[in-house]
Formats: sequence, structure tokens, C-alpha cells
Amino acid sequence: MAQPVFDSAYARLPDRFFARVAPTPVAAPRLIRVNAPLAAELGMDPDWLASDEGVAVLAGNRVPETAIPIATAYAGHQFGGFVPQLGDGRAILLGEVIDRGGTRRDVQLKGAGPTPFSRRGDGRAALGPVLREYLVSEAMQALGIPTTRALAAVTTGERVIRETMLPGAVLARVASSHIRVGTFQFFASRGDVEGVHTLADHVIARHYPHAADAERPYRALLDAVIRAQAKLIARWLLVGFIHGVMNTDNTSVAGETIDYGPCAFLDEYDPGTVFSSIDTYGRYAYANQPAIAQWNLTRLAECLLPLLADDKDAAAADAVEALEAFAPVFERAYQGGLRRKLGLATERNGDAALADDLLQTMAANGADFTLTFRALCHAAADEGADAEVRGFFADPAAYDAWAPRWRQRLAEEPGDAAARRDTMLAVNPAFIPRNHHIEAVIRAAVDRDDFAPFEELLTVLAKPYDAQPAFARYMDPPAPQERVLQTFCGT
Ligand code: AMP
Ligand code: MG
Repeated sequence: MAQPVFDSAYARLPDRFFARVAPTPVAAPRLIRVNAPLAAELGMDPDWLASDEGVAVLAGNRVPETAIPIATAYAGHQFGGFVPQLGDGRAILLGEVIDRGGTRRDVQLKGAGPTPFSRRGDGRAALGPVLREYLVSEAMQALGIPTTRALAAVTTGERVIRETMLPGAVLARVASSHIRVGTFQFFASRGDVEGVHTLADHVIARHYPHAADAERPYRALLDAVIRAQAKLIARWLLVGFIHGVMNTDNTSVAGETIDYGPCAFLDEYDPGTVFSSIDTYGRYAYANQPAIAQWNLTRLAECLLPLLADDKDAAAADAVEALEAFAPVFERAYQGGLRRKLGLATERNGDAALADDLLQTMAANGADFTLTFRALCHAAADEGADAEVRGFFADPAAYDAWAPRWRQRLAEEPGDAAARRDTMLAVNPAFIPRNHHIEAVIRAAVDRDDFAPFEELLTVLAKPYDAQPAFARYMDPPAPQERVLQTFCGT
């Protein structure tokens, strides 16, 4: 098989949607890794991608004949403040491919050099953030959470200047699309209603084709994005994920997790957790994420107002009605997920309180989020496993006070205990990309040019729900000296 064939619907949109710009070649591209299963899914030949020719494409040194490289325009609210022009400052969209399932997917090179949207940035990415995004996005995929994917990563043979000099890298990223809430804001903030219209039609055709047949397509579009985001954020909370920079320009209208910067997973359960070094006020703390998503969706609704109704008041009322669906959709997804995590297949009054009391007890006792739920799977089938769960609580008696209520509730469930344990094991991961492991992977690669730890961690994270006893050490929370208190942006 030869080089991939691109078809670029986005590049056929009006000129003001993007800038045509080719990647800037790098000195000495070297392959870190090709994601062979994803390549196959996209109808690409992984061996070709790993060849000299393929690596040249992945590094931006060669543009495939069918590609139309562009940097897309977008705006965005960053930490609540509006920036009318952001855009792809260090990412270049090579184009789209139609995957084996017939779905259009973006292939983008992140770190491919300056674009008209780079402002003062260099258009490049450092190796550390590229490895972090590769690991965490693929871990999210394996956890079953909608996300952009990592198709490949290469080093550039060049250094980038950050706080220090760091090796440069390029990530080939795949997404349903890279269209963001901020893409709508780009046009809306310029009073370009025609642009909003064109973009909305594009998004409907690409992501929500059913909306085209709805009585009111743009309301149906808004409803669909709200639902997708509400469900996505519920999934994040259920695995302890903190995005870190939930700006409107990092909010995908397709409902995928996008732009992994200073993201992290909870170790001990603390809803106030903030990792991002740039999130001084804790705007994007773990437990704030649903409220922030709703805020971001409100910005999307504002952009769509002229499409919802001619009358301003009617349009506003319509938007408000659509936004009111966020909370119930989120709650259903979140509470349903918590019930499954606790082994409850049926729904009873008091389930939410039972789950919430556990979470509060965990928070008060510094219990590890992932390990506690994983151990509960075994405790559901065997009270002897309580000893392990208790060990995660600073005061084990706190678990003892809660556990009998849970057991009483489990007794009302149909099905046998072993089957319940197995169902629980399939929703409570053993392995998440813990920060101290990611940091260790990055240190090995950056300081010693050793990518073996990266490969090993990727292998473990590909099967997060399997026990993998040989890799049990990757379940461990950080030792005190390994604790990562802050994560830093990819910039
Ligand atoms: P982010 O915080 O990574 O989502 O990026 C926010 C904005 O800054 C986007 O418009 C990026 O394209 C831009 N940006 C981030 N890093 C760089 C860089 N190294 N060079 C140019 N633009 C950048
Ligand atoms: Mg971004």
C-alpha cells in the first residue's frame, strides 16, 4: 500500500475559515511510534507510515499529493476571558481520510511549525507533552471515553526553547473533527452570521446528520452537542479525569476529549483537585468540570442565536430551554455510571446518597479513587476483600460504617456475586495514566533517549480493565516523593 489518500471537506469551506500553510520541515525526523491498529482503522498502511517516506510525512517534511494542509481559524474564552483570534498556531491539518467504517476523520500534525495563527509562538511542540498526549489520549480510548487519537509521534532532531531547551516532536493526531466551540465563536464575534450558518451546516452534515431531518435543524444541533458534552464530562468524572484547560477553544463540538495539556487523573479522591500550573483560581478543578462545560455550551448557544429564531427573545428562550437539558443528561450519565461502579444494575431511591456518602468518606480519608473502586469489585463477591478496601482509608472504620449499607443494597440486586464482580471489573479500571508514571516515561525519553518505558506504559494502558499481574506496579499511587503536584501546558 502506498501513501494515504486525503479528502478535505474543511478545505472546501470559504477561505476565511482557514489559512493554507504547509508544515515547516525539520532537521532529522525519527520515528517514535506508529499506532498500527489505528492506522489500519483509517485504511493506512502502518509499514508505509514507518518507512522513510511515511516518517517524512509525519514530521511535516513531505506533504502527500492529496493533502491540502491548512491551519484552521478559531477564537475562544481562555479562563473566562474572550480572545477573538486563536486558531491553529502549532497544528496543521493535513486533511481528512474516510476510515474503514466510512467515517470522515481529521489527520493533524501538532507541532508542525508556525502558521498565521502562531502569534508569538514557535509553532512547535516539545517531546514531553507529545508523549503525554499520546499516552493519555490512547488510555482514554481504551477506557471507552470519546477522544482524539494518536496515530504516530516523531522527534524532530531540533530543540525547542521553553523554560529550558527541550527535544522537539510532532504528534499526528486523529479526530472526528477539530471543530471547537471556539470555531463558532470566531465567526459569531465578528458578526459573520453567514459563517456561523456555513459552519453549522458543515457540523450537522459531518457529526449530527439526524439534525438535518429535524423540524428545527439548528436547535437539534445545539441539543446534540449539549448531550454529547454532558455525557463526556460524566465519563471523565467516573474515571477521575481532570482536563485542566477546559477553554471553549478546547471544547470539541463532536464531543471528544481534545487538547491534552496539563491534564491529570486523580490519585486520592478530592473533588477540589487542580493540577494545572496555569489554573491559579481552580476554575477547572475536578468537580467544576460539569459547570464549566455548561458555561462553554452557553457560549455555543449564543453563537447559534441568529439561527434559532428571527425574534431575539424567542431565540434566547430556545437556547435556555436547550441548555436546561445539560444537567439532567449529565446527572443520568453520572449517577448511572456510579451505580455501575458500585455493582448496582437496578435503580433504587437512595442509590445516589449511597454513592455520594462513599465519595465523601473517600475524600475525608484520602482514599485512592481508582484503587478503592477496583478493590470494591472483589469485596462485592467476598467480604474477605474488605481488608484491602479498608486499607485505602486513613481511618478504616470510616469504610466499615459505609460498607454494611452497600451490602444491604447489593442483597436487593438480582444475579450472583461472581457475575456482579466481573461486571464491576469491566467498569472500574485497574490502570489509569497516573501522573508519576507519565513523568517517569517523559524523563526517560527526554533525559536518556530511552523510549522503552513509554512503550511499556502504553501496553499496560491499552487494557485498563484487565488485571495484568505482571504490571501490578503500574497500579500503585505515587510514593510521597513521586507526587506530581502540578502539570504544565503543552506550550
Ligand atoms: P492550547 O492552550 O495548547 O490549547 O493553545 C491555545 C492557543 O495557543 C492555540 O491557538 C494554539 O495554537 C496556540 N499555541 C500554543 N502553543 C503554541 C506554540 N508553541 N506556537 C504557536 N502557537 C501556540
Ligand atoms: Mg487548544
